[in-house]
Amino acid sequence: MEKKEFKSESKRLLDLMINSIYTHKEIFLRELISNASDAIDKMYYKALTDESITFNREDYFIRIALDKQNRTITITDSGIGMSKEDLEQNLGTIAKSGSLDFKSTHEIEEDASIIGQFGVGFYSSFMVADTVTVNSKQYGSEEAYKWQSSGAEGYTIDVGDKDSAGTQIILNLKENTEDENYDDFLDEFRIRELVKKYSDYIRYPIKMMVSKSRPKPKKDENDENEKTEYEQYQEDETLNAMVPIWRKNKSELKDEDYNNFYKEKFYDYEDPIAVIHTSSDGLTSFKALLYIPAHAPINYYTKEYEKGLQLYSDGVLIMNKCGDLLPDCFGFVKGLVDSADLSLNISREVLQHDKQLKIIANHLQKKIKGELLDMLSSDREKYEKFYNSFSRPIKFGIYNEYGRDKDLLKDLLMFTTSKEKKLATLSEYVSHMQENQKYIYYASGESIEKVEKLPQVELVADKGYEILYFTEDVDEFAIQILHEFEGKEFKSVSASDLGIDSDEKKDEEKKETENKDLFQFMKDTLGDKVKDVKASSRLKSHPVCLTSEGMLSIEMEKVLNSMPNDSKVKAERILEINVNHPIFEKLTDLMKTDKDKLKKCTDVLYTSALLIEGLSVEDPVELSNNICELIG
Ligand code: ADP
Repeated sequence: MEKKEFKSESKRLLDLMINSIYTHKEIFLRELISNASDAIDKMYYKALTDESITFNREDYFIRIALDKQNRTITITDSGIGMSKEDLEQNLGTIAKSGSLDFKSTHEIEEDASIIGQFGVGFYSSFMVADTVTVNSKQYGSEEAYKWQSSGAEGYTIDVGDKDSAGTQIILNLKENTEDENYDDFLDEFRIRELVKKYSDYIRYPIKMMVSKSRPKPKKDENDENEKTEYEQYQEDETLNAMVPIWRKNKSELKDEDYNNFYKEKFYDYEDPIAVIHTSSDGLTSFKALLYIPAHAPINYYTKEYEKGLQLYSDGVLIMNKCGDLLPDCFGFVKGLVDSADLSLNISREVLQHDKQLKIIANHLQKKIKGELLDMLSSDREKYEKFYNSFSRPIKFGIYNEYGRDKDLLKDLLMFTTSKEKKLATLSEYVSHMQENQKYIYYASGESIEKVEKLPQVELVADKGYEILYFTEDVDEFAIQILHEFEGKEFKSVSASDLGIDSDEKKDEEKKETENKDLFQFMKDTLGDKVKDVKASSRLKSHPVCLTSEGMLSIEMEKVLNSMPNDSKVKAERILEINVNHPIFEKLTDLMKTDKDKLKKCTDVLYTSALLIEGLSVEDPVELSNNICELIG
């Protein structure tokens, strides 16, 4: 017999399980049954891909046995079983448990109440048992093994005597305490209720011998006065309905059923924000159950996140994450697809390129969009909650592949607007546009507060036009790809031509021609820092601002340069001067009297424009010196 210690993370989780609060303890049964069902799935899948194995459905089941005298619950399955290595790997270390991958044990400790809502796996046995024994024999192996543990000290592994393939788990229930009556779990009714509550959809029969009573045959058939006597007998009963939830009729299901299934299967503690239960009987028939989570998973914006739906072939799980079923923009969707039309005997590679998958994916893509649009029109608050979690994938979806999916996604976009400071869709924006307004205006910056203060915003806002505030790095990139919405082009408030005619504009043009030398001097002073220095037609009260020419805006420059990439880009910067501001008079004076001072002024003005844009000052020491000299 070998004695081993648990890995340290496992120990911590075990401690937590052992000391968990009572109301959550019942989920141990769900966890063990779902492991058993997975083990039979693996067996079934093996049989489907290996002709030498025959799979007779009758041979596959999960059995629960209650022993009141010895206070044990035994759960047996005829699944694939575990080898000695499997027992060590799977039950000796918590890291193996997929359910906990996304939460560190530390986080869980902080909120132990969350436990009941997670798939915590095999370790949950220790919530109700002080000793757990696992007898297992792997399919095809000669040897059986016995794993045993009484909690945090460690476990032992020994040769076992199980003669058929599969796994048997024996739980020795903890002693009852004042507040906790573990004997509850030895009650047939209680177990039946738990199976119904959590595991009804499991595809294999969950059997249990249950006691029943029936009237005894009468001693004298003709004696009407003879009292009926009853006798107890044992009968094998299947406790679960065995119909997976996605195969049930919508009318049979309540929100709670959908939500419970989601939380258990996809390890979320929050109900989903939307459920899509759909089927298609076209060329490729399938059923799908999709969930839109209420929040992004912790690792959603990391490389580790893998999108995809579970893929079932006629009820058997054949792929845990089939990425081809979901476009990246909807990569946050969880769920499953079940189709009897997918051939199983083809390898994964082939399956991944299956035409049928494309048909299903297209159908689902439309469904997801439809669901989101419905939500947008029927429950704005909910949609905004969704959007706050998942605006990024939608915006990236527009930008990706040169806008291939832009038409699918553009109606789902929302931005905060200048007037109401609330989220509006593009179609809402367009419907609010003024009669003489040519463009959809936007302004970008780090935060709404900062964008609002941008000098460039002034003229457009003064005209009474609404402005979309872009505060996410992907915004401008997405909008550039989109180019227009309902025939209206997008225009940055920093664009050289704002499409706003005004009398002032002519005035500015005049002043620029009159002071050609001044602008040229300033431009020469700044050298290659700017492409041009111009009289501004957009500034009203502010003295200067920086705008850009061409496709690349200053915000985009910032985004691109923040990426881990050696080649840096630079937007074509234009320094705009407000010719109606007192500073302009000062500049024209200096042009005549003190060119050296004008140089310093130019540098200070340019640098303050950089700061307004949220760019860093190229030479802060020089700036400081210049300011001092100008003051002095
Ligand atoms: P999870 O099921 O989330 O992976 P568990 O801690 O419940 O985490 O189980 C760990 C692993 O142990 C499973 O992934 C599976 O490989 C194995 N296992 C657990 N129970 C059984 C069983 N009844 N039959 C075969 N393998 C099992």
